[in-house]
Amino acid sequence: MIGWLAAVLVATSVLGAPTAARPTPQPLAGRVVVLDPGHQLGNHGYPRQIARLVPAGGFRKPCNTTGTSTNGGYPEASLTWDVALRVRERLQRLGAVVRLTRHSNRQDRWGPCVDVRGLAGNTVDGGGSADLKISIHADGSHARGAHGFHVIMPADRRPWTHDIWRSSRRLALVTRAALVERGLARATYVAGGDGLDVRRDLGTLNLSDVPTVMVELGNMRSPVDAARMTRPEGRERYARGLAGAVRDFLERG
Ligand SMILES: [Zn+2]
Repeated sequence: MIGWLAAVLVATSVLGAPTAARPTPQPLAGRVVVLDPGHQLGNHGYPRQIARLVPAGGFRKPCNTTGTSTNGGYPEASLTWDVALRVRERLQRLGAVVRLTRHSNRQDRWGPCVDVRGLAGNTVDGGGSADLKISIHADGSHARGAHGFHVIMPADRRPWTHDIWRSSRRLALVTRAALVERGLARATYVAGGDGLDVRRDLGTLNLSDVPTVMVELGNMRSPVDAARMTRPEGRERYARGLAGAVRDFLERG
């Protein structure tokens, strides 16, 4: 018994444990990921700027909205910002280059508009384009009992999304699976109740030339979801799910 155990331990230390000399594996080295934290904390203070119409993929739409909040007043902009930073940290540890569409979460800032968010990642410095883009949001439904996440993918709309809707659908499926794997519930109040939705009216998705989805992490008006969103460990769980989705999508090519 001891001999068998010793053999297992030796085998484990030889095969399993990385030695100090071996560099940390970076499975996402060379990959570029765009994260789009929805809204900006100060949008409500700039009604004229965020109402301005911008191109959204064959039609025009207001630049942005204020976003929603929990009943206790925790804003969507702060949630999406915090989760994006957590996802960025995880992806950078895996070797990815991460670009954000905004660089602060401040009351004295607004934007960017949805056209800028939509185009982000189509060209990255140094040439080429990002590998994927995830737009991070949360919903604000007052429907009774409405809770859970859903993942929105672009419709097939030539000449806008005909080239990315298939890869975006794959990203949506992988993202849904990654969130479910972290114990998060699919929204039952949206579309078919399967945690997926297809939208043709979102500039953020329509203007993208790279695989993209918009994730509504949950319903901020739901006490169950709000309790998770307002706790750091809850936000970390969302971030684990999204970072896992990126990794699954890129590694399983
Ligand atoms: Zn939003």
